[in-house]
Amino acid sequence: MRLQMYIDGKWVDAGAGGKRAIINPYNQETIATVAEGNKEDALQAVASARKAFDEGAWTKKPANERGEIVHEIGRLIRASREELAELETLDTGKTYSESLDDMDDIANVFIYFAGLADKEGGEMIDSPIPGSTSKVIREPVGVCGLITPWNYPLLQAAWKLAPALVAGNTLVMKPSEITPLTTVKVFELFEQAGVPAGVANLVLGPGKSVGAHLSDSMDVDLISFTGGVETGKKIMQAASTNVKKIALELGGKNPNIVFADADFETAVDQALNAVFFHAGQVCSAGARLLVERPIHDAFVNALVKRAKNIKLGNGFEEDTQSGPLISAEHRDKVETYVKIGQEEGATLALGGRRPEDADLQQGFFYLPTIFTNCTAEMRIVQEEVFGPVLTIETFNSEEDAIAKANHTIYGLAGATFTEDIAKAERVAGQLRLGTVWINDFHPYFAQAPWGGYKQSGIGRELGRAGLEEYTETKHVFRNT
Ligand code: NAD
Repeated sequence: MRLQMYIDGKWVDAGAGGKRAIINPYNQETIATVAEGNKEDALQAVASARKAFDEGAWTKKPANERGEIVHEIGRLIRASREELAELETLDTGKTYSESLDDMDDIANVFIYFAGLADKEGGEMIDSPIPGSTSKVIREPVGVCGLITPWNYPLLQAAWKLAPALVAGNTLVMKPSEITPLTTVKVFELFEQAGVPAGVANLVLGPGKSVGAHLSDSMDVDLISFTGGVETGKKIMQAASTNVKKIALELGGKNPNIVFADADFETAVDQALNAVFFHAGQVCSAGARLLVERPIHDAFVNALVKRAKNIKLGNGFEEDTQSGPLISAEHRDKVETYVKIGQEEGATLALGGRRPEDADLQQGFFYLPTIFTNCTAEMRIVQEEVFGPVLTIETFNSEEDAIAKANHTIYGLAGATFTEDIAKAERVAGQLRLGTVWINDFHPYFAQAPWGGYKQSGIGRELGRAGLEEYTETKHVFRNT
């Protein structure tokens, strides 16, 4: 496999010779050593994308032909799903079956956007000026800088790469420096599918020395970023240099509201899945559980009993339900938050420590952790921990549940569980969230938009809205 950057249609090492070891978080072994770029590499990649955009070989290609190439990328990803899933599990520690699901979703994302390539034609509008015509068309934005995090490395990249290409842009991709492997592999598939040189460029390296030079570049027209809120704020500031368009997919502290009339078993299953899936390292994790008072004690007992049995381990073993956290540094952060929760007076009902099993000592594991007696003001309830840590609060009425759920700076996603569908729809209508699930948690698909209210972000990915992010709107008026 290539371990280099891809600039102007060539696989290249970092100009200054930088390298980075990529670590398996399950056992701390080095999986690969990849090129690590710097500012010069970022600028070269931007120059390559600028030249390709200005020359127009991709932009001016008929939309259906761009769609065919993007469709072929989706097909190649499907054909390489096992190889890609293996890399993703080695790099992130997530289970192999989750990685396989990710790869299928990723192929679907490319195929979905490919299908939209020639269906976004402009529209004629009724001009109020006699004897004139007026049409509105969509055009590519230009050079796109795409920056992604480590938790869903290739999935988050796909949500950006597919619509950016379909809309006729050129791009520079910068994956997380911790988890670049599947993104590198997919750039090989881009080459195979026939994406012309210079259209899609890949730079590797840290945010400060590489990503920051995409966000403040005068030659980048749009930045699409997925990651933490604090990084998002820096990117917004940097993007002001040339008033770039920006799309930000940031963090969440997602409420999960369980009413007393919910189907108890489904709600327990989903409350566990909501927060402990991928060790809680999910932007839409249901880390903040709100349970209606009459069922609180029974619900907590059932959760604790089942969460105790979640099998941590090697993502490649079939009975493993959850892998490790991504890094030692990230586990330190989770541990700090658990300490904060205890100091704030929340009751530790489960976990709160590393596992003691001998076979888990080399990995960055942390036990599923549950806090009860939480209140809305606590930091453990308000701040994104991004780990296997659940906080539980109670509520007394529909209004109380909505007020507590909305009491956050975030607005990414959340759920409500109840058998009363009219109540569910009322609650969904009042939650300030980009996605609301009713009697389920986590489903998403290429056809539906994804994004956050409030500090969870700006703009949308996926769906038709996810393609529009990568277009400019032009009004052409003709006086006949
Ligand atoms: P992060 O913000 O630390 O890094 C994300 C990316 O930004 C990385 O590629 C990093 O190298 C780069 N970066 C860092 N500093 C930069 C700078 N100054 N300029 C430009 N680029 C810079 O986030 P992370 O720790 O990799 O990921 C976890 C975060 O991502 C969580 O907050 C999570 O909620 C969020 N996330 C959100 C979504 C969503 O859809 N809303 C999805 C996945 C993850």
